[in-house]
Amino acid sequence: MDDNLRIQCTACQGFAPASQFKLHYKYKRVVCPSCASGRTEQEERKKAAAAKAEQLQPKKPAGWDKEDEFLERMARIKEQDFKAKVEKIPGTTLVKFNCQKCSYLFKYDPYKKMPRACPYCNEDVPNLKAYTF
Ligand SMILES: [Zn+2]
Ligand SMILES: [Zn+2]
Repeated sequence: MDDNLRIQCTACQGFAPASQFKLHYKYKRVVCPSCASGRTEQEERKKAAAAKAEQLQPKKPAGWDKEDEFLERMARIKEQDFKAKVEKIPGTTLVKFNCQKCSYLFKYDPYKKMPRACPYCNEDVPNLKAYTF
């Protein structure tokens, strides 16, 4: 028998010198050195993990709409949340505004965009005009 004859491994379909094949308890057959050392198993586990990770990634276009919808919904929720913090003061052009950072309540003029920042914590006041009028 020629020791350098390369034969195909039935476990991984790879080729290796016949002399290096070993009987493996797990495969219950003679396998190539890389299978015998568990390398093939490791590679397969790695491949499986990569495939799994790929599945978790949203695929276009299948997962695309869903994600878009989700972002849109989040934006809408944010807007509603924001609206709740703004209240028109009857008879004036002013609104009552709750600072989003420190919750300080102050009068805000959306036409003049005054004050520009929260009088208490100096957090910038977002553009309220789009939300209130
Ligand atoms: Zn093999
Ligand atoms: Zn504030």
